[in-house]
Amino acid sequence: MSPPDTIALCRALIEACREMNALGINQGTSGNISVRVPDSDRFLITPSGIPYDRMAVDQIVEMDLEGGYYGDLLPSSEWRMHYDIYRTRPDAGAVVHTHANYCTALSCLRLGIPPFHYMIGVGGGTDIRCADYATFGTQALSNNMLAALDERKACLLANHGMICLRENLDKAMWLAVEVETLAKQYWVARQIGEPVLLDQDEMAGVLARFATYGKQPHELTDRDAPAVEAPVHRTPAAA
Ligand code: 13P
Ligand code: ZN
Repeated sequence: MSPPDTIALCRALIEACREMNALGINQGTSGNISVRVPDSDRFLITPSGIPYDRMAVDQIVEMDLEGGYYGDLLPSSEWRMHYDIYRTRPDAGAVVHTHANYCTALSCLRLGIPPFHYMIGVGGGTDIRCADYATFGTQALSNNMLAALDERKACLLANHGMICLRENLDKAMWLAVEVETLAKQYWVARQIGEPVLLDQDEMAGVLARFATYGKQPHELTDRDAPAVEAPVHRTPAAA
């Protein structure tokens, strides 16, 4: 493994691992991250059990989509979850798995996150599910995760943590932070009562808006629901 673009991806992977610990959404050698190599049947994944501050580019493990790995180091013990996502989810360009505190705490109660806040829509649906429990590193865990990720981009993993996918590494990291923020807000709200949930109609509107969030008018078609009710567009008066 070594074309220059692959090396850049390895560097980005290590940077993301260090960032997830610095951000407080993971700790120690828990968690793992992978990225799909564009236009190939390969992905790059963190090696198992190596501290992120000592991880080097040549320690990142390359895997193929038939379950093979290259090089001397074993891939993450959770390679099955990453591998199954890349095999079944063409929308996945990167996968982030963390043991974020609030996600993990909710997952120990076997609680998913309901639509207590409209930002739940960032996970692709009206809730963020908690996958059924299975031992770490097993195919059973990966199967449970795939079921919880159906039509979703993130889920909790019972008595374990969370996992999410997006089209690239930056977006997957952003989503991991958002999901942990939602888990924290939900946890805090539940300390003083039962949060009022947004109903399915409201969430359907939210999801339609999310589909165009961040897009400018020229990027929208007539069928798109604009995310923003724009103010009146003025053109500068002629001098
Ligand atoms: P690895 O170091 O093997 O990636 O394991 C970390 C982890 O989160 C296992 O669930
Ligand atoms: Zn884990």
